Amino acid sequence: MILIDGNKISAEIKEEIALEVQQMKKRGEKTPHLVAIIVGHDGASETYVGHKEKSCKQVGFDSTVLRFEDTVTEKELLETVDKLNNDPAIDGFIMQLPLPKHISEQKVIEAIDPKKDVDGFHPINLGRIVIGLPAYVSATPAGIIELFKRYKIETSGKNVVVIGRSNIVGKPISILLSQKANPGDATVTLTHSRTKNLKDIVSKADIVIAALGQPEFLTAEMLKEGAVVIDVGITRIKSENTKSGWKLIGDVKFDEVSKKASFITPVPGGVGPMTIVSLLQNTLKAAKGEIYPK
Ligand code: NAD
Repeated sequence: MILIDGNKISAEIKEEIALEVQQMKKRGEKTPHLVAIIVGHDGASETYVGHKEKSCKQVGFDSTVLRFEDTVTEKELLETVDKLNNDPAIDGFIMQLPLPKHISEQKVIEAIDPKKDVDGFHPINLGRIVIGLPAYVSATPAGIIELFKRYKIETSGKNVVVIGRSNIVGKPISILLSQKANPGDATVTLTHSRTKNLKDIVSKADIVIAALGQPEFLTAEMLKEGAVVIDVGITRIKSENTKSGWKLIGDVKFDEVSKKASFITPVPGGVGPMTIVSLLQNTLKAAKGEIYPK
């Protein structure tokens, strides 16, 4: 069994990005600039935005966090989006979700200029992925694709089973792996809460991507010997053995599944660290005009 080390790969990618940013600066080019908008004081959102800010600093990006109280109106937020869309100093920006109930997330996301939508949530970016055009791929699926590349995991002709059909993970990773591409060219089955005979379907998979948010859902008895297992799930549970008083567990029963899998991502330290790195990669692409020429 090979443990897929997301911490190691993400550190390598950060070094690569940092080197590229140094060279851009030497050539007198503009420093990539990412803006994160955060509304309210949700603990998990604060943590994510904090990580993103720190990662930007590590690779030499400029980064700005715009904070709003949860009393902000939809109109004010849309005006901010409009300003950022039209500010040439900003290469990309993200709206940390969730937003308060009185604000339509969809409306705000659709207001973001797809050219600056480095989270890849805008329907235009998702639509471009569907028809195989260059686009910002949302961070988690992009991170999974990067892990397949770096670990040289063959996907062509393989049976892939994705568990969970969210717009940010399940659906885009299913589309990406079924594209004529490398990684890609797989036969993908997208499963969800209404799927019948999930165990049967999973038992035929060469690659399983668990993204349903149910701790330790995937067990060894469900899996084919030698399958590749990607665990996207993150659930916080209380723990007496950690300083913080909680720990993260995935959607895979790691102890038993790791004995049967050929490759497996741990939680934490697998897909999670790749997510932030993908956001950095998208911001670099935005600064260079790689997806949408400037
Ligand atoms: P979600 O929570 O929006 O949806 C869950 C999906 O799982 C739904 O499509 C549902 O149909 C499916 N599902 C639920 N129970 C099921 C069952 N018993 N059998 C089959 N399918 C079932 O999905 P999400 O936002 O992609 O989040 C999924 C998990 O991934 C969560 O734990 C989340 O915290 C985690 N996540 C991790 C990262 C990361 O960076 N590692 C990023 C995004 C999400």
